[in-house]
Amino acid sequence: MMKTWFAKPLWLRVMVGLVLGLLSGLVLHYGIGGETGPHIAEVWLKPFGDAFVRLIQMLVIPLIFTTLVAGVIAMGDPKKLGSLGGKAVMLYFSTTAFAVSLGLFIGALIKPGKGVSYTSASTDSQSSIIDKLQSAGEVSVSLTDKILHIIPTNPVEAMSTADVLAVIFFAIMLGIGILAAGDKARTVSTFFEEASEVIQKLTMIVMEVAPFGVFALMAWVMGTQGIGLLLNLSKLAIALYLACFLHILFVYGGLIKIVLKLPMVRFIKGMADAIGVAYSTSSSNATLPVTIACVHKNLGVDKSIAASILPLGATVNMDGTAIYLGIVATFAAQALGIELTMADYLMVGFTATMASIGTAGIPSASLFLASTVLAVFGVGQADAVLIIAFIFPFDRLLDMMRTVTNICGDAAVATTVAKWQGGLDEDVFRNKETSIENI
Ligand code: ASP
Repeated sequence: MMKTWFAKPLWLRVMVGLVLGLLSGLVLHYGIGGETGPHIAEVWLKPFGDAFVRLIQMLVIPLIFTTLVAGVIAMGDPKKLGSLGGKAVMLYFSTTAFAVSLGLFIGALIKPGKGVSYTSASTDSQSSIIDKLQSAGEVSVSLTDKILHIIPTNPVEAMSTADVLAVIFFAIMLGIGILAAGDKARTVSTFFEEASEVIQKLTMIVMEVAPFGVFALMAWVMGTQGIGLLLNLSKLAIALYLACFLHILFVYGGLIKIVLKLPMVRFIKGMADAIGVAYSTSSSNATLPVTIACVHKNLGVDKSIAASILPLGATVNMDGTAIYLGIVATFAAQALGIELTMADYLMVGFTATMASIGTAGIPSASLFLASTVLAVFGVGQADAVLIIAFIFPFDRLLDMMRTVTNICGDAAVATTVAKWQGGLDEDVFRNKETSIENI
């Protein structure tokens, strides 16, 4: 039994965990039901899910740091990193702009907000939402400040607060320093190469518990939330899931199939572990170590390219979030009876792109940024709170899909840039048995 389990590729085990978790959660919610079912999910299953999330989160900073320093050393030339970053940022931007437009288009087409009476929004959650909106407002500091903050005044503090962009900056600088020191820094250079191997091994070890972690998280989400709410509000959910599917199929599919001339099926299969983890955790940040492992081991992207572009993507590139913000904007306009003009659409598109860049890769982050986008066409704070309170109870199920889209976008861009830079092993992409434990 144990043997057959471990003989199966990891992605399959993760998917089994996901489906079984979903079914068990539904049994808890509807089969046992009442208060007992959700209680069991909360008390007996959630802690296992949380333990899994913490295990991977534990790896995020050490992984980015060591792999990126080792990556800069391996590249041998800091200039290469500049052209790499430039190409990645350009692709990140264009895919996101496309994502918002798609969200607005699908929202206008499906009309999820038509006929919605949002008086059913739960009043209990409204005050906590107002708090969260206020703190989201405080967090949004000026652009100059944000850019300045990429340079850490204290690298150790940046690591301890998991400030990803600042850690990326310091790691690149350190790598450049080691290169510049040349022969005099041979020990330090070897140290980082070995450290990065160690942390990657650790990632593989942690991934062995992924099927169980994913099971627990799915059972918890479904057990406590059920899918009833999702079905009631199906139009919003259908709009989001559909737009995300279309975006993955046509935009990432276009990059992989038309630009790179590689099979899209291998891309999805190679990303399956990361997709399972993203769907169940709703956090691109927590998924990052798995995304890096999949992109490197299964898609054949050079390690240093994966280590530099993916952490950046997990922080700034959020296509699923951009789609969502576009749909929520049309949803709100329809629910409140506001006609959007072409200028409104353009402004919403621009603001949603910026908001998606500013969104943290953690669960439900973008829900609270939605008010910024709604303000563009004159929705006041009070109405914004009602709209958000309306979506709030089932946002998790939407969050799961946008997180999957977010990480697939990071991976598609990393693969494309790798190919352009000559850092893509196409044999690995096409043929290798897809499983990150086969190193
Ligand atoms: N949960 C999403 C992510 O981590 C962000 C969002 O709320 O849209 O990618």
